[in-house]
Amino acid sequence: MRVYVAYTGGTIGMVPSDQGYVPGKAFADDILVHLKSYQPDHEFDVHTYERLIDSSNATPEDWLAIATDLQNKWQDYDAFIVLHGTDTMAYSAAALAFMFQHSRKPIVVTGSQIPMVKKRNDALSNVFGSVDAVLNGPNGVFLFFGGKLLEAARARKVDTSDLSAFSSPNFLPRGVLGIEWEWRKMHLPKQAELLQIPPMQSGNVTILPVFPGVQSAHWESLLGESVKGAVLYSYGAGNAPDQDAGLLSLLQKASDRGVVIVNISQCGKGSVSSGTYAAGSALERAGVISGRDMTFEAAFAKLHFLIALGLPVSEIKDTFSKTLAFDVL
Ligand code: ASP
Repeated sequence: MRVYVAYTGGTIGMVPSDQGYVPGKAFADDILVHLKSYQPDHEFDVHTYERLIDSSNATPEDWLAIATDLQNKWQDYDAFIVLHGTDTMAYSAAALAFMFQHSRKPIVVTGSQIPMVKKRNDALSNVFGSVDAVLNGPNGVFLFFGGKLLEAARARKVDTSDLSAFSSPNFLPRGVLGIEWEWRKMHLPKQAELLQIPPMQSGNVTILPVFPGVQSAHWESLLGESVKGAVLYSYGAGNAPDQDAGLLSLLQKASDRGVVIVNISQCGKGSVSSGTYAAGSALERAGVISGRDMTFEAAFAKLHFLIALGLPVSEIKDTFSKTLAFDVL
């Protein structure tokens, strides 16, 4: 197999500096030596990005750059591994899952909590696990971390220090790597590969946080002219204050001018069912649509993706509710 490894930055390849860890350029050569000795029968190319970043600097334009890079190499390689910082890995992985729907080749995003330059690290086990996954596992877009192969649009970073830093709260892992792999068998209908890389732009999507005492003034500045989508970060089963007419009319006005507002719960696990409480149904009446059991990260990336496709608002709303990449039940 020919495997393309895109090194975008992140802790995995970082080296110490006066200001703390920063991405290191020598990493690509080092990891290539390890890859060749781990799987000598397969071919690896490691490409170091010009602008190596701590993924907390990543933007939707970076998702686009990664996707375009993979698309340019699509015919030349059998499998793809993206080395990425953990902080925003779930966002980038979800964005890739929407851009490479029903991919006929495996794409695995991974990184590490401890840089490879440290003697004890999780970099090699995550990279080798990702290699095993692309060589032996299913096609599609996944995030591999701490022994778990997760659907890319279902994964979240849930731990700052544990080496098992990612979980998939609403969807079982596709594979778990212990001594051997344990695969989750899924009977999937054959669907045509759909690669779409629309020009996603920073600033098109915002977040509306719900917190005790939230006022319309807090949200007004977040709903600027350029905003076309928003993730309402609600309580519990999808609730927000329904006693503040100002808040609801702000949502209504934004929705009337074509902003697609989706409701995602701060709980992280479980689903939004906004009709359950009056405080949730008020949101529906104000034009907010349910994000059901999607992760916050996937909802954010999906809004960016659908908006950038240039679909009419009604179609964005319809498509948002459908599963495109195992992202929602
Ligand atoms: N701040 C780092 C990043 O996201 C953290 C990591 O890679 O683990 O790039």
